[in-house]
Amino acid sequence: MKRETKKRQSNRIYTLKKCAKPECEIEFNPTDARQIYCCRQHQIDSNNDKRKIITSHQADFDKKVKNNRKTLIKIYNNYLYKKKQYNTQNSFRL
Ligand SMILES: [Zn+2]
Repeated sequence: MKRETKKRQSNRIYTLKKCAKPECEIEFNPTDARQIYCCRQHQIDSNNDKRKIITSHQADFDKKVKNNRKTLIKIYNNYLYKKKQYNTQNSFRL
């Protein structure tokens, strides 16, 4: 069951605005003072582009964390590291 929403439009006439999507050159008459895109699709496109930038930064960070973890595991399992750690522990016992 989908709830129907009725959009309320005021009778106020706003001045023409340029669409906030960077590539869009359309000037439109907003139906609400907060409206910054000429149409719903441009709002979706613009928000997807913004999210894509954030997601790519997050993906880069996750990749670096994953590589760092692999490196730390390699170091931890390395024979020389284990030997040095053993020697360090022994030196504390003195
Ligand atoms: Zn637009």
